Amino acid sequence: MTDRPLLLATANVGKLRELRELLGDLTVLGLHDVGIDDLPETADTFLGNATQKAVEAARRTGLPCLADDSGLCVDALGGAPGVYSARYAGRHGDDAANRALLLERLRDVADDLRTARFRCVLALVDRAGPLGERVLHAEGECPGAITRAPRGDGGFGYDPLFVPAGETRTMAELPSAAKHVLSHRGAALRSMLPTLRGYLAGR
Ligand code: IMP
Repeated sequence: MTDRPLLLATANVGKLRELRELLGDLTVLGLHDVGIDDLPETADTFLGNATQKAVEAARRTGLPCLADDSGLCVDALGGAPGVYSARYAGRHGDDAANRALLLERLRDVADDLRTARFRCVLALVDRAGPLGERVLHAEGECPGAITRAPRGDGGFGYDPLFVPAGETRTMAELPSAAKHVLSHRGAALRSMLPTLRGYLAGR
């Protein structure tokens, strides 16, 4: 039996590229392949938003759907921008403005207090498969610290400002394979992948 295709329920180009790389040989579709422009995310938690996106995409298409909700939580800012990471500076997805605002808010914060973590929650909905009405979740985290200026042009979002714990390079200076080993998204997906593969293969 051939694997059923998996719909990646995200309009974020950076996330889509990384999820495709992490899913390797699985057959995946993006929202544009099924004629969906974007999905609502109105919850105030990563779990709530990931669930909302996966449920809505599955309702509209009937396909197995995987959604990612993620963001950067900065300790000196009480966990902000967190679930609002994509629209921190006001306009959804304006990465440059979001990075500039973050640096501005941390201008007077000493180097040893600039700790932060990326968080990712994945939600899988597969009504026609073994999950039925249930939603499967997985979480990943990547601790690190915020630089004083952007460095590197890989990755997306806050990557040029984030140095993972134990590294000297920012996420945007690392090759993508190295980012996947360290990242919140890589961790979350690795914990879900064996189950996901089984479902898509009809087991
Ligand atoms: P959302 O999950 O679509 O609401 O948006 C997540 C936002 O968090 C992105 O737009 C980025 O700003 C940020 N983000 C999530 N994951 C990463 C990452 O791996 N690198 C850099 N920024 C990220």
